[in-house]
Amino acid sequence: MSFRLPPDEGGHEVMKKVVILGGGLAGLSAGHHLAEHEPAVIERESAIGGLCRSFTQDGFTFDCTGHLIHLKNAYTKELIARILPDAFHAHERLAAIYSKSTTTPYPFQANTYGLPPQVIKECVVGFVESMHVNGNGEPKNFHDWVLLTFGSGIAKHFMLPYNEKFWKQDLRAITARRVAASIVFPRPWQNRSSGCTRTRLWNTSIQSRNMSG
Ligand SMILES: Cc1cc2nc3c(=O)[nH]c(=O)nc-3n(C[C@H](O)[C@H](O)[C@H](O)COP(=O)(O)OP(=O)(O)OC[C@H]3O[C@@H](n4cnc5c(N)ncnc54)[C@H](O)[C@@H]3O)c2cc1C
Repeated sequence: MSFRLPPDEGGHEVMKKVVILGGGLAGLSAGHHLAEHEPAVIERESAIGGLCRSFTQDGFTFDCTGHLIHLKNAYTKELIARILPDAFHAHERLAAIYSKSTTTPYPFQANTYGLPPQVIKECVVGFVESMHVNGNGEPKNFHDWVLLTFGSGIAKHFMLPYNEKFWKQDLRAITARRVAASIVFPRPWQNRSSGCTRTRLWNTSIQSRNMSG
């Protein structure tokens, strides 16, 4: 494909075998991994970064999304540490959920510390019951996936109201596959701190962009 470079880059015509549309995280990653083909990454905005950009207006800096990257994949962690050694700070996640006039550690579905005993009971009983439900194939939608995965108590007291607020739509309209991968799933043989101890269990490590870097 041939295209014309912007005036500040010479303005002349170039031929490229590999052209990547969009300089967000996906396009930049594709460009990095296809470097041997000398790809051109074409971005329609004046700066790369896509949703991860920030812009300044009237003296205030606005981030287009949250600048926290939740990294699970070992290769991605290593890649980011290698190509952007000073750009990120690692943080231990210290999040909590305020519910029923108390705080319980994140993630709700693996803790429930401090909640009223009746709520804890409904969450634990519902979770155990859900382990014995023989789901018929893949859940049809995110709503059904929540009920099948966490049971009726966790669904009622946290997962459904929280996610309806977060996604601002009927959870039956969202496929489970779209969101389930990012949700922490407690296994029964792992230590659930249901009302007894305040512990931090899953997904306790996140990376955030170094705003000073
Ligand atoms: C509110 C919100 C909060 C989020 N919070 C987090 C978070 O905390 N942690 C996390 O890991 N992820 C978060 N995400 C998700 C993450 O930001 C995105 O998954 C990621 O940035 C998407 O990257 P992308 O390259 O796929 O798309 P984008 O970032 O959308 O990039 C697409 C790029 O393509 C360009 N483009 C589009 N069309 C053309 C065209 N025709 N020609 C040239 N260029 C074009 C656009 O201008 C843009 O720069 C959040 C997302 C949202 C919306």
